[in-house]
Amino acid sequence: MSYKTEVQTDASGKWYGNSATYSTPKAAKDAVEGLAGRWTLVHSTRVIGPAGRVVDFAGDPDPDEITIAECSVCGGPRLLLGSLGKLDHFRCRCCGSESSNG
Ligand SMILES: [Zn+2]
Repeated sequence: MSYKTEVQTDASGKWYGNSATYSTPKAAKDAVEGLAGRWTLVHSTRVIGPAGRVVDFAGDPDPDEITIAECSVCGGPRLLLGSLGKLDHFRCRCCGSESSNG
């Protein structure tokens, strides 16, 4: 699995990325926040995870438990359990249903 970072530098709402990739969401977040600290034009940052999903760090006390997208059953936050081959496996925090996607 790899994570990428994107930044917003203007009012256009456009996100700009680069070719750097990171093996964990935490590493990507640290890198992009470091960049934002040095580059004053940057006003927003985000981390892009598998399948182009934006990683939501809010409310995740454990950096290894990253919420990615919503549960298809109840709409609650899903936790990434791990990856097997090309598939990422998730478990819903609310209803506990497990799912995966490639
Ligand atoms: Zn659920």
